Amino acid sequence: MGPALPSMLTGNMLTGEETMVDLDRVEKAVVALIEAIGDDPAREGLAGTPRRIAEMYAEIFNGMDRDPKQELVVGFEEGHREMVLVKDIPFYSMCEHHLLPFYGVAHVGYIPNADGRVVGASKLARVVEIVTHRPQLQERMTTQIAEAIVEALQPDGVAVVVRAEHLCMTMRGIKKPGSNIVTSANRGLFRHSAATRAEFLSLVGG
Ligand code: ZN
Repeated sequence: MGPALPSMLTGNMLTGEETMVDLDRVEKAVVALIEAIGDDPAREGLAGTPRRIAEMYAEIFNGMDRDPKQELVVGFEEGHREMVLVKDIPFYSMCEHHLLPFYGVAHVGYIPNADGRVVGASKLARVVEIVTHRPQLQERMTTQIAEAIVEALQPDGVAVVVRAEHLCMTMRGIKKPGSNIVTSANRGLFRHSAATRAEFLSLVGG
């Protein structure tokens, strides 16, 4: 993974989507936070910070009240029974223990059921985006991606591998820059067939 900062740390654009985030409450909380660490929220550099953070949170936490399964309802029946694999879906999330970013890539594979129902790669990327735009744990997001696909597509198998760097590990505590955490969730054939799982892992380079 490169050293580039996630774009969410530098941008403050709203997506224009509905948000549960209470901008005024976040703003007040950030003012209190700045005071609590001993700085002056009125000084020039910090004056706009509470509002910027509120607007940023509205964007990066816009997955709070969205159901990822809804992204998968529009599929198409291809009669395709082989493994479908989407590699290297980039994501940015916030660890719920420290509210610091963790970010990396998700690899998603599934085997359509007898109906051969499949969805476009962009839909799987949307699923990843929704579950990562919440205070999150890497283990849980991995499971949530797999479960959304199981429930929406009822495929014969699903495998998800997530590889991420956590700034709470990089910036503080054990300070291991560049160290990645890898998590996986396997359902159906990927859980029961070692050969299927091995094929998936060789395709994702893991
Ligand atoms: Zn953390």
